[in-house]
Amino acid sequence: MVDQNKIKKAVKLFLEGIGEDPSREGLIESPDRIARMCTEIFAGMEEEASVHLSKTFVIENNEMVVEKDIVFYSVCEHHLLPFYGKVHIAYIPDGKVVGLSKLARTVETYARRPQIQEQMTGQIAESIMKYLKPQGVMVMVEAEHMCMTMRGVKKPGSRTVTLSKQGCFAENPYLQDTFFRMIHE
Ligand code: ZN
Repeated sequence: MVDQNKIKKAVKLFLEGIGEDPSREGLIESPDRIARMCTEIFAGMEEEASVHLSKTFVIENNEMVVEKDIVFYSVCEHHLLPFYGKVHIAYIPDGKVVGLSKLARTVETYARRPQIQEQMTGQIAESIMKYLKPQGVMVMVEAEHMCMTMRGVKKPGSRTVTLSKQGCFAENPYLQDTFFRMIHE
């Protein structure tokens, strides 16, 4: 559970730390606003992906399922700045599938936490393997990191791409190529 009082105190102290006056008109309500915002952007802290991935449907044919361009917003745990972009997911069922919106919910569960992109990519893939138990899953995340673009190396528009391949996708270049072809269509 997000502790709103701790966040309010911390934001006030932070504003003082950067040389601001937290009591001036424009900032007076900021600690409160940020505390409320945190309950939304860090809602994944209190969620389990198993909730979203446990309601499954039986299917006859185990053809590849692709859900692409799932937009996400997350916060980099190194700088507490946003990183955001798209997640593409493919899996080969083993007799059951999950509602498509549940894949997006799974992405949100892991995105709405302080994160690093590499870890989030793995967590999405591993949770699908663990709870849906398909023959294999492949997850690709493409994101822009504000800690790259507004500070440091300052490369606006540069994207970081991460991949996770599990089960039958791990050692099968044909399946991997099919995934890449489908997400770029
Ligand atoms: Zn960062």
